[in-house]
Amino acid sequence: MSPNQAPSVAPAPAGDREDAGTGPAVRLRALRKSFGAVTAVDGIDLDIARGEFFSMLGPSGSGKTTVLRMIAGFELPTSGTVELAGRDVSRLAPFQRDVNTVFQDYALFPHMNVIGNVEYGLRVKRVPRARRRERALEALRTVRLQELAQRKPGQLSGGQRQRVALARALVNRPRVLLLDEPLGALDLKLRQAMQIELKQIQREVGITFVFVTHDQDEALTMSDRIAVFNDGLIEQVGTPAEVYERPASAFVAGFVGTSNLLSGRGAEQVIGSRGVYSIRPEKIRVDTDLAVPARDGETGATGTVTGVVYAGATVRYEVALDAGGQLSVVRQNEGTAAGAPALEGSRVRLVWRQEHSFRVSEGSGETHR
Ligand code: ADP
Ligand code: MG
Repeated sequence: MSPNQAPSVAPAPAGDREDAGTGPAVRLRALRKSFGAVTAVDGIDLDIARGEFFSMLGPSGSGKTTVLRMIAGFELPTSGTVELAGRDVSRLAPFQRDVNTVFQDYALFPHMNVIGNVEYGLRVKRVPRARRRERALEALRTVRLQELAQRKPGQLSGGQRQRVALARALVNRPRVLLLDEPLGALDLKLRQAMQIELKQIQREVGITFVFVTHDQDEALTMSDRIAVFNDGLIEQVGTPAEVYERPASAFVAGFVGTSNLLSGRGAEQVIGSRGVYSIRPEKIRVDTDLAVPARDGETGATGTVTGVVYAGATVRYEVALDAGGQLSVVRQNEGTAAGAPALEGSRVRLVWRQEHSFRVSEGSGETHR
Protein backbone atom coordinates (compact mmCIF):
# COMPACT_ATOMS: atom_id res chain seq x y z
CA MET A 1 0.00 0.00 0.00
CA SER A 2 1.37 3.42 -0.89
CA PRO A 3 1.80 5.91 1.95
CA ASN A 4 -0.87 8.29 0.68
CA GLN A 5 -3.57 5.61 0.70
CA ALA A 6 -5.30 5.98 4.03
CA PRO A 7 -5.52 2.58 5.73
CA SER A 8 -8.71 1.93 7.66
CA VAL A 9 -6.85 0.49 10.64
CA ALA A 10 -6.87 3.85 12.42
CA PRO A 11 -10.06 5.55 11.24
CA ALA A 12 -10.62 9.18 12.05
CA PRO A 13 -13.67 9.95 14.21
CA ALA A 14 -16.87 9.74 12.20
CA GLY A 15 -17.41 13.49 12.31
CA ASP A 16 -14.09 14.21 10.61
CA ARG A 17 -14.81 12.22 7.49
CA GLU A 18 -18.44 12.96 6.78
CA ASP A 19 -17.59 13.97 3.24
CA ALA A 20 -14.58 11.77 2.73
CA GLY A 21 -14.78 10.09 -0.66
CA THR A 22 -17.47 10.40 -3.27
CA GLY A 23 -20.07 8.02 -4.59
CA PRO A 24 -22.44 5.70 -2.77
CA ALA A 25 -21.44 3.85 0.41
CA VAL A 26 -21.28 0.59 -1.56
CA ARG A 27 -21.19 0.16 -5.32
CA LEU A 28 -21.08 -3.29 -6.92
CA ARG A 29 -20.47 -3.66 -10.65
CA ALA A 30 -20.86 -6.93 -12.62
CA LEU A 31 -19.89 -8.76 -9.45
CA ARG A 32 -19.41 -12.51 -9.87
CA LYS A 33 -18.12 -15.32 -7.71
CA SER A 34 -17.67 -18.96 -8.63
CA PHE A 35 -16.55 -21.78 -6.39
CA GLY A 36 -15.37 -24.41 -8.86
CA ALA A 37 -18.44 -25.34 -10.89
CA VAL A 38 -20.84 -23.48 -8.55
CA THR A 39 -21.72 -19.91 -9.50
CA ALA A 40 -22.67 -18.35 -6.17
CA VAL A 41 -23.04 -14.76 -7.48
CA ASP A 42 -23.84 -14.33 -11.15
CA GLY A 43 -23.25 -10.68 -12.04
CA ILE A 44 -24.66 -8.10 -9.67
CA ASP A 45 -24.94 -4.31 -10.08
CA LEU A 46 -26.00 -2.45 -6.99
CA ASP A 47 -25.64 0.98 -5.35
CA ILE A 48 -26.25 1.37 -1.62
CA ALA A 49 -26.62 4.97 -0.45
CA ARG A 50 -24.89 6.44 2.57
CA GLY A 51 -26.87 6.08 5.76
CA GLU A 52 -29.20 3.56 4.20
CA PHE A 53 -30.59 0.51 6.01
CA PHE A 54 -30.30 -1.88 3.10
CA SER A 55 -31.40 -5.52 3.20
CA MET A 56 -30.42 -8.43 1.02
CA LEU A 57 -33.35 -10.84 1.13
CA GLY A 58 -33.53 -14.25 -0.47
CA PRO A 59 -33.75 -17.99 0.14
CA SER A 60 -30.86 -20.02 1.46
CA GLY A 61 -28.15 -20.51 -1.17
CA SER A 62 -29.13 -17.46 -3.25
CA GLY A 63 -25.72 -15.79 -2.80
CA LYS A 64 -26.38 -13.21 -0.06
CA THR A 65 -23.55 -14.21 2.26
CA THR A 66 -21.09 -14.45 -0.64
CA VAL A 67 -21.92 -10.86 -1.68
CA LEU A 68 -21.49 -9.68 1.91
CA ARG A 69 -18.15 -11.48 2.19
CA MET A 70 -16.95 -9.85 -1.01
CA ILE A 71 -17.89 -6.42 0.36
CA ALA A 72 -16.00 -7.26 3.57
CA GLY A 73 -13.00 -8.66 1.70
CA PHE A 74 -13.19 -12.21 3.10
CA GLU A 75 -13.80 -13.43 -0.46
CA LEU A 76 -12.29 -11.99 -3.64
CA PRO A 77 -14.56 -11.61 -6.70
CA THR A 78 -14.04 -13.92 -9.66
CA SER A 79 -14.78 -10.79 -11.71
CA GLY A 80 -16.39 -7.40 -11.22
CA THR A 81 -15.71 -4.67 -8.67
CA VAL A 82 -16.55 -3.53 -5.14
CA GLU A 83 -16.33 0.19 -4.40
CA LEU A 84 -16.69 1.80 -0.97
CA ALA A 85 -17.37 5.56 -1.04
CA GLY A 86 -16.07 5.71 -4.59
CA ARG A 87 -12.85 3.79 -3.90
CA ASP A 88 -12.21 0.48 -5.64
CA VAL A 89 -11.43 -1.99 -2.82
CA SER A 90 -11.95 -5.17 -4.87
CA ARG A 91 -8.43 -6.46 -4.21
CA LEU A 92 -7.85 -5.03 -0.73
CA ALA A 93 -7.61 -7.09 2.46
CA PRO A 94 -10.50 -6.89 4.98
CA PHE A 95 -8.55 -4.66 7.39
CA GLN A 96 -7.94 -2.14 4.59
CA ARG A 97 -11.68 -1.63 4.13
CA ASP A 98 -13.77 0.70 6.23
CA VAL A 99 -16.35 -1.97 7.08
CA ASN A 100 -17.16 -4.30 9.98
CA THR A 101 -19.19 -7.49 10.06
CA VAL A 102 -21.62 -8.83 12.68
CA PHE A 103 -22.21 -12.57 12.36
CA GLN A 104 -25.11 -14.65 13.56
CA ASP A 105 -22.97 -16.71 15.95
CA TYR A 106 -21.64 -13.60 17.80
CA ALA A 107 -18.10 -15.05 18.12
CA LEU A 108 -17.52 -13.40 21.53
CA PHE A 109 -14.50 -14.31 23.68
CA PRO A 110 -16.01 -16.29 26.59
CA HIS A 111 -13.19 -15.55 29.06
CA MET A 112 -13.40 -11.77 28.57
CA ASN A 113 -16.07 -9.60 30.12
CA VAL A 114 -18.40 -7.48 27.99
CA ILE A 115 -16.27 -4.35 27.94
CA GLY A 116 -13.17 -6.43 27.23
CA ASN A 117 -14.89 -7.94 24.22
CA VAL A 118 -15.97 -4.54 22.94
CA GLU A 119 -12.50 -3.01 23.49
CA TYR A 120 -10.65 -5.87 21.87
CA GLY A 121 -10.48 -4.45 18.33
CA LEU A 122 -9.23 -1.11 19.62
CA ARG A 123 -6.56 -2.86 21.69
CA VAL A 124 -5.32 -4.63 18.58
CA LYS A 125 -5.14 -1.24 16.88
CA ARG A 126 -3.13 0.12 19.84
CA VAL A 127 -5.67 2.76 20.78
CA PRO A 128 -4.55 4.16 24.19
CA ARG A 129 -6.26 2.63 27.19
CA ALA A 130 -8.33 5.61 28.40
CA ARG A 131 -9.56 6.43 24.91
CA ARG A 132 -10.38 2.77 24.36
CA ARG A 133 -12.47 2.56 27.49
CA GLU A 134 -14.32 5.75 26.63
CA ARG A 135 -15.21 4.51 23.16
CA ALA A 136 -16.21 1.04 24.38
CA LEU A 137 -18.54 2.57 26.98
CA GLU A 138 -20.04 4.80 24.32
CA ALA A 139 -20.67 1.77 22.10
CA LEU A 140 -22.25 -0.08 25.05
CA ARG A 141 -24.48 2.91 25.75
CA THR A 142 -25.57 2.88 22.09
CA VAL A 143 -26.74 -0.73 22.40
CA ARG A 144 -28.16 -0.03 25.91
CA LEU A 145 -25.81 -2.42 27.70
CA GLN A 146 -23.69 -0.09 29.82
CA GLU A 147 -24.95 -1.69 33.05
CA LEU A 148 -23.65 -5.12 32.04
CA ALA A 149 -20.09 -4.07 31.13
CA GLN A 150 -18.49 -6.35 33.72
CA ARG A 151 -20.43 -9.53 32.90
CA LYS A 152 -19.03 -12.49 31.01
CA PRO A 153 -20.80 -13.60 27.78
CA GLY A 154 -21.99 -16.75 29.60
CA GLN A 155 -24.01 -14.56 31.98
CA LEU A 156 -25.95 -12.88 29.17
CA SER A 157 -29.11 -13.76 27.26
CA GLY A 158 -29.00 -14.39 23.52
CA GLY A 159 -30.30 -10.91 22.78
CA GLN A 160 -27.72 -9.31 25.07
CA ARG A 161 -24.91 -11.28 23.46
CA GLN A 162 -26.08 -10.07 20.07
CA ARG A 163 -25.89 -6.50 21.34
CA VAL A 164 -22.32 -7.02 22.55
CA ALA A 165 -21.43 -8.26 19.06
CA LEU A 166 -23.04 -5.14 17.65
CA ALA A 167 -21.19 -2.86 20.08
CA ARG A 168 -17.94 -4.57 19.18
CA ALA A 169 -18.51 -3.70 15.53
CA LEU A 170 -19.77 -0.16 16.20
CA VAL A 171 -16.78 0.72 18.37
CA ASN A 172 -14.63 0.78 15.22
CA ARG A 173 -16.95 3.39 13.72
CA PRO A 174 -16.97 1.75 10.32
CA ARG A 175 -18.51 3.56 7.39
CA VAL A 176 -20.50 0.44 6.56
CA LEU A 177 -21.73 -2.28 8.91
CA LEU A 178 -22.42 -5.69 7.40
CA LEU A 179 -24.84 -7.94 9.29
CA ASP A 180 -25.32 -11.57 8.26
CA GLU A 181 -28.60 -12.92 9.69
CA PRO A 182 -27.70 -11.37 13.06
CA LEU A 183 -31.06 -12.12 14.65
CA GLY A 184 -31.40 -15.66 13.31
CA ALA A 185 -30.57 -17.34 16.61
CA LEU A 186 -33.18 -15.43 18.63
CA ASP A 187 -36.74 -16.54 19.31
CA LEU A 188 -39.59 -14.75 17.55
CA LYS A 189 -40.61 -12.26 20.28
CA LEU A 190 -37.03 -11.20 20.99
CA ARG A 191 -36.25 -11.02 17.29
CA GLN A 192 -39.16 -8.67 16.71
CA ALA A 193 -38.07 -6.44 19.60
CA MET A 194 -34.49 -6.41 18.31
CA GLN A 195 -35.66 -5.53 14.80
CA ILE A 196 -37.13 -2.29 16.06
CA GLU A 197 -34.16 -1.55 18.27
CA LEU A 198 -31.58 -2.28 15.58
CA LYS A 199 -33.34 0.12 13.25
CA GLN A 200 -33.31 2.81 15.99
CA ILE A 201 -29.62 2.25 16.62
CA GLN A 202 -28.90 2.52 12.91
CA ARG A 203 -30.71 5.87 12.78
CA GLU A 204 -28.80 7.12 15.83
CA VAL A 205 -25.33 6.22 14.57
CA GLY A 206 -26.09 7.05 10.92
CA ILE A 207 -23.87 4.23 9.63
CA THR A 208 -24.86 2.41 6.43
CA PHE A 209 -26.22 -1.03 7.38
CA VAL A 210 -26.18 -3.91 4.89
CA PHE A 211 -28.39 -6.54 6.43
CA VAL A 212 -28.69 -10.12 5.17
CA THR A 213 -31.84 -12.10 5.97
CA HIS A 214 -34.03 -14.85 4.54
CA ASP A 215 -36.99 -13.51 6.57
CA GLN A 216 -39.33 -11.35 4.51
CA ASP A 217 -41.06 -9.81 7.55
CA GLU A 218 -37.71 -8.77 8.95
CA ALA A 219 -36.66 -7.17 5.66
CA LEU A 220 -40.00 -5.38 5.24
CA THR A 221 -39.97 -4.08 8.83
CA MET A 222 -36.44 -2.75 8.99
CA SER A 223 -35.25 -1.65 5.58
CA ASP A 224 -35.11 1.58 3.64
CA ARG A 225 -34.63 -0.59 0.55
CA ILE A 226 -34.47 -4.31 -0.19
CA ALA A 227 -32.69 -6.33 -2.86
CA VAL A 228 -34.44 -9.66 -3.51
CA PHE A 229 -31.94 -12.40 -4.38
CA ASN A 230 -32.66 -15.52 -6.39
CA ASP A 231 -30.03 -17.96 -7.54
CA GLY A 232 -27.06 -15.58 -7.56
CA LEU A 233 -28.98 -12.69 -9.12
CA ILE A 234 -31.00 -9.73 -7.88
CA GLU A 235 -34.60 -9.91 -9.10
CA GLN A 236 -35.71 -6.56 -7.76
CA VAL A 237 -34.47 -3.59 -5.73
CA GLY A 238 -36.98 -1.29 -4.09
CA THR A 239 -38.52 0.08 -0.94
CA PRO A 240 -40.49 -2.42 1.17
CA ALA A 241 -43.74 -1.04 -0.25
CA GLU A 242 -42.51 -1.25 -3.84
CA VAL A 243 -41.30 -4.81 -3.47
CA TYR A 244 -44.48 -5.92 -1.71
CA GLU A 245 -47.07 -3.94 -3.67
CA ARG A 246 -45.39 -4.25 -7.06
CA PRO A 247 -43.30 -7.42 -7.19
CA ALA A 248 -41.37 -7.48 -10.46
CA SER A 249 -41.49 -11.24 -10.95
CA ALA A 250 -43.45 -14.31 -9.94
CA PHE A 251 -40.50 -15.24 -7.75
CA VAL A 252 -40.59 -11.94 -5.80
CA ALA A 253 -44.38 -12.15 -5.49
CA GLY A 254 -44.01 -15.59 -3.92
CA PHE A 255 -40.99 -14.95 -1.75
CA VAL A 256 -42.16 -11.61 -0.34
CA GLY A 257 -45.65 -12.23 0.92
CA THR A 258 -48.06 -14.89 -0.27
CA SER A 259 -47.89 -15.92 -3.87
CA ASN A 260 -51.30 -15.30 -5.41
CA LEU A 261 -51.02 -15.68 -9.13
CA LEU A 262 -53.47 -15.86 -11.99
CA SER A 263 -52.20 -17.28 -15.24
CA GLY A 264 -53.32 -19.18 -18.32
CA ARG A 265 -57.05 -19.45 -18.94
CA GLY A 266 -57.89 -17.95 -15.53
CA ALA A 267 -55.96 -14.77 -16.35
CA GLU A 268 -57.46 -14.57 -19.82
CA GLN A 269 -61.01 -14.82 -18.56
CA VAL A 270 -60.74 -12.73 -15.39
CA ILE A 271 -58.22 -10.05 -16.39
CA GLY A 272 -58.89 -10.23 -20.10
CA SER A 273 -55.37 -10.93 -21.33
CA ARG A 274 -52.65 -13.57 -21.21
CA GLY A 275 -49.73 -13.44 -18.81
CA VAL A 276 -49.04 -13.98 -15.13
CA TYR A 277 -50.78 -11.64 -12.70
CA SER A 278 -50.20 -11.14 -8.98
CA ILE A 279 -52.86 -10.07 -6.46
CA ARG A 280 -52.15 -9.73 -2.74
CA PRO A 281 -54.63 -11.80 -0.65
CA GLU A 282 -55.66 -8.86 1.54
CA LYS A 283 -56.72 -6.78 -1.47
CA ILE A 284 -59.54 -9.19 -2.32
CA ARG A 285 -63.08 -9.00 -0.91
CA VAL A 286 -65.29 -12.06 -0.55
CA ASP A 287 -68.96 -11.58 -1.39
CA THR A 288 -71.54 -14.30 -0.87
CA ASP A 289 -74.01 -12.39 -3.05
CA LEU A 290 -73.09 -13.46 -6.58
CA ALA A 291 -75.50 -11.08 -8.25
CA VAL A 292 -73.91 -7.77 -7.16
CA PRO A 293 -72.47 -6.10 -10.27
CA ALA A 294 -68.81 -5.02 -10.23
CA ARG A 295 -68.33 -1.35 -9.48
CA ASP A 296 -66.27 1.01 -11.64
CA GLY A 297 -62.58 0.10 -11.60
CA GLU A 298 -63.20 -3.29 -10.03
CA THR A 299 -62.50 -6.79 -11.25
CA GLY A 300 -64.54 -9.76 -10.11
CA ALA A 301 -64.49 -13.52 -10.42
CA THR A 302 -66.76 -16.26 -9.14
CA GLY A 303 -65.58 -19.46 -7.50
CA THR A 304 -66.01 -22.03 -4.77
CA VAL A 305 -64.47 -21.85 -1.30
CA THR A 306 -62.27 -24.92 -0.91
CA GLY A 307 -60.77 -24.09 2.46
CA VAL A 308 -61.13 -21.73 5.43
CA VAL A 309 -58.27 -21.20 7.88
CA TYR A 310 -59.01 -19.33 11.09
CA ALA A 311 -55.84 -17.58 12.30
CA GLY A 312 -57.05 -15.37 15.16
CA ALA A 313 -56.59 -11.86 13.80
CA THR A 314 -57.32 -12.94 10.25
CA VAL A 315 -59.28 -15.54 8.32
CA ARG A 316 -57.92 -17.03 5.14
CA TYR A 317 -60.10 -18.39 2.33
CA GLU A 318 -58.91 -20.59 -0.50
CA VAL A 319 -61.08 -20.14 -3.53
CA ALA A 320 -61.10 -22.22 -6.75
CA LEU A 321 -62.14 -19.90 -9.58
CA ASP A 322 -64.69 -21.01 -12.16
CA ALA A 323 -62.37 -19.58 -14.83
CA GLY A 324 -59.53 -21.79 -13.58
CA GLY A 325 -56.86 -21.19 -10.97
CA GLN A 326 -56.91 -20.73 -7.23
CA LEU A 327 -56.71 -17.55 -5.13
CA SER A 328 -56.10 -16.98 -1.42
CA VAL A 329 -58.03 -14.24 0.30
CA VAL A 330 -57.13 -12.87 3.72
CA ARG A 331 -59.68 -10.85 5.66
CA GLN A 332 -59.34 -9.04 8.95
CA ASN A 333 -61.33 -10.80 11.60
CA GLU A 334 -63.52 -7.81 12.44
CA GLY A 335 -66.44 -9.70 13.91
CA THR A 336 -66.12 -13.05 15.63
CA ALA A 337 -65.76 -14.97 12.35
CA ALA A 338 -67.74 -17.76 13.98
CA GLY A 339 -69.57 -18.26 10.71
CA ALA A 340 -66.43 -18.27 8.57
CA PRO A 341 -65.77 -22.04 8.53
CA ALA A 342 -69.33 -22.59 7.31
CA LEU A 343 -68.36 -20.84 4.07
CA GLU A 344 -66.39 -23.91 3.03
CA GLY A 345 -67.97 -25.29 -0.12
CA SER A 346 -69.94 -22.05 -0.75
CA ARG A 347 -70.15 -20.19 -4.01
CA VAL A 348 -68.62 -16.72 -3.68
CA ARG A 349 -67.65 -13.73 -5.74
CA LEU A 350 -64.17 -12.27 -5.33
CA VAL A 351 -63.79 -8.57 -6.01
CA TRP A 352 -60.70 -6.36 -6.14
CA ARG A 353 -59.68 -3.01 -7.55
CA GLN A 354 -58.17 -3.36 -11.01
CA GLU A 355 -54.85 -1.79 -10.09
CA HIS A 356 -54.28 -4.52 -7.49
CA SER A 357 -53.86 -7.22 -10.11
CA PHE A 358 -50.77 -6.51 -12.16
CA ARG A 359 -48.58 -8.38 -14.53
CA VAL A 360 -45.33 -9.96 -13.28
CA SER A 361 -42.57 -11.65 -15.22
CA GLU A 362 -42.60 -15.43 -15.06
CA GLY A 363 -38.89 -15.99 -14.83
CA SER A 364 -35.96 -13.99 -13.50
CA GLY A 365 -34.59 -10.63 -14.48
CA GLU A 366 -36.90 -8.72 -16.80
CA THR A 367 -39.77 -6.82 -15.28
CA HIS A 368 -43.15 -5.91 -16.67
CA ARG A 369 -44.76 -2.92 -15.09
P1 ADP B 1 -26.95 -17.51 1.12
O1 ADP B 1 -26.16 -16.68 2.08
O2 ADP B 1 -27.94 -16.73 0.32
O3 ADP B 1 -27.60 -18.68 1.80
P2 ADP B 1 -24.37 -18.28 0.04
O4 ADP B 1 -23.76 -17.03 -0.48
O5 ADP B 1 -23.88 -18.78 1.34
O6 ADP B 1 -25.96 -18.13 0.02
O7 ADP B 1 -24.16 -19.44 -1.03
C1 ADP B 1 -24.45 -19.31 -2.41
C2 ADP B 1 -24.02 -20.57 -3.13
O8 ADP B 1 -22.60 -20.68 -3.12
C3 ADP B 1 -24.53 -21.86 -2.50
O9 ADP B 1 -24.80 -22.77 -3.53
C4 ADP B 1 -23.36 -22.32 -1.67
O10 ADP B 1 -23.38 -23.71 -1.51
C5 ADP B 1 -22.18 -21.87 -2.51
N1 ADP B 1 -20.99 -21.57 -1.69
C6 ADP B 1 -20.87 -20.57 -0.78
N2 ADP B 1 -19.63 -20.56 -0.24
C7 ADP B 1 -18.95 -21.58 -0.80
C8 ADP B 1 -17.61 -22.10 -0.67
N3 ADP B 1 -16.74 -21.54 0.18
N4 ADP B 1 -17.28 -23.15 -1.44
C9 ADP B 1 -18.14 -23.71 -2.30
N5 ADP B 1 -19.40 -23.28 -2.48
C10 ADP B 1 -19.82 -22.23 -1.74
MG1 MG C 1 -26.05 -16.89 4.18
